[in-house]
Amino acid sequence: MSESEQLTELAKRRGFFLQTAGVYGGVAGFYTYGPAGATLKDNLEAAWRDRFVTREGHMEIDAPTVMPEPVFEASGHLDGFDDMIIECVECGASHRADHLVEDYPELDVEDAEALPTEEVAELIAEHEIACPACGASLAGEPVEEFNLMFATNIGPGSSSPGYLRPETAQGIFVEFPQLAEYARNQLPFGVAQIGKAYRNEISPRKALIRVREFTQAELEHFIDPEADEPPLERVADVTLPLYSVEQQQADDGEIQEVTVTEAIEEGIIESDWVAFYLGLAKGWYERIGVDMDRFRYRQHLPGELAHYAADCWDAEAELAGDWVEVTGFATRGSYDLDKHAEHSGEEFSVFKQYDEPITVERPTVDPEMSYLGPEFGDAAGEIVAALESLAERDPDAFDGETVTVEAGGEEYEIPVEQTGFAIEEVTESGEHVTPEVIEPSFGVGRLVYTVLAHAYEEDVVDDEERTYLSLPPELAPTTVGVFPLMDKDGLGEKAQELAGELREAGLSVTYDDAGAIGRRYRRQDEVGTPFCVTVDYETLEDGTVTVRERDSTEQARVDVDGLGAVLSALRDGEQSFGEL
Ligand code: AMP
Repeated sequence: MSESEQLTELAKRRGFFLQTAGVYGGVAGFYTYGPAGATLKDNLEAAWRDRFVTREGHMEIDAPTVMPEPVFEASGHLDGFDDMIIECVECGASHRADHLVEDYPELDVEDAEALPTEEVAELIAEHEIACPACGASLAGEPVEEFNLMFATNIGPGSSSPGYLRPETAQGIFVEFPQLAEYARNQLPFGVAQIGKAYRNEISPRKALIRVREFTQAELEHFIDPEADEPPLERVADVTLPLYSVEQQQADDGEIQEVTVTEAIEEGIIESDWVAFYLGLAKGWYERIGVDMDRFRYRQHLPGELAHYAADCWDAEAELAGDWVEVTGFATRGSYDLDKHAEHSGEEFSVFKQYDEPITVERPTVDPEMSYLGPEFGDAAGEIVAALESLAERDPDAFDGETVTVEAGGEEYEIPVEQTGFAIEEVTESGEHVTPEVIEPSFGVGRLVYTVLAHAYEEDVVDDEERTYLSLPPELAPTTVGVFPLMDKDGLGEKAQELAGELREAGLSVTYDDAGAIGRRYRRQDEVGTPFCVTVDYETLEDGTVTVRERDSTEQARVDVDGLGAVLSALRDGEQSFGEL
């Protein structure tokens, strides 16, 4: 079995994830998290919230998954959120055209998404790339753009189209005016959201990696580009494994290990904010168990950038030999806020108060209507607007006796004395600033999968092969397995009682009395339970139990009294097993 087959088999058997509606043949691109998986996913989301929301002092919201069409018209998703599709005329299967090109062994194309559709069609034709489903040649078939949004109708009838959101971010952007109020109009501020996103992927694949419904954890950090700087000192010495555009395009390009400070000084990362988040996130990936030998940050190639992004780096994890994007770190500029301002007519900026009011000179006009009206008739209104705009743009134009303006395609010469032109001194207390957005966007399902794949271990214990998941205790679905050595002589009752006490102490506990003790250990090893507690005859005599650690399989005798506190300290990393 391949690495991914092994993991998918274990995931189904032990309740991490399974294909949805298998009894009806399953549906591609949809997965259900089982009991172990749902808890692991919850724990991962809690760790994300702890790091990127609570500890950073940001806000979190929860927006609907269905949004009306104007939102996606403004955001550009209606027009631009497309993938390249090619259809096989023989069997009717649809494929991602860019993926066919990337997967074709004789072509060394790493990122076909960045190529124009015509070029992808040409490559397919030139190499007679075959349909992966039936083997027929796809040469000559057209490559087209396919919009990934799921469409629906809001309410009965079709007059109010809606879409399942393809990213959680728009739910934040559309509420910006109100969110800025909550932040008392003080930049910078961050708004996060964890929730479902939907993309009608052409070819879902690799279990949780490319699905049609998935959970995103996104943070939109709104900053004043002129004034706000990230707290780089917090991450200055963090080492980043960077795979820059330059390295990707070089013949012998490689991953460079540089500190955040070096990456900025050497110009490898352009945005200080992106550098800050790459540093902050690196520590978090380590915390959740991503193997740092199978991890890198890759910069987007120019053609690969999303329609809104200026610079973008992906966190990528190595899974079964492939590099998979788990997080995108993008500078979205003021793109989204500008678009929503333009389409809604509302204000998507914050008013930035100056420390002290400032006095500025402002050219103004106050045209004499009793002159303009009789002189120019219907054109007078347009002439006034043209004079106002000219005064703002080019006050020197009012230096002479007359000033010339264009209105409705005609030129008019107006005596300056009739324009009421003056330079006024005005006091301003602040200005409107449209913030720029820094966005770390995490794919929760891909991270769950990565954490499982990187935690998957095999070894031999007592001459027997064993599979275990070396999950960090913080993420493990169950923290403690409690077993009676045998279910007799009161051992079962004692163990049940202990399990109840540990649950009351806030631990996640599984009770198991079925089968030989070795089997029970193996079961817990396979779901990644970090600690197991066995109640035996000694427990009845001296009140101690055996605590066993998953990875080392070492055992220690510990007092039942205070066991909850000991296990909590082990889970939270406040105590090591060796210290017991
Ligand atoms: P993007 O907006 O495409 O940069 O996506 C942000 C994050 O969402 C990515 O880094 C992925 O982790 C995740 N993601 C995107 N598309 C999918 C998908 N089809 N299935 C699972 N996760 C996805």
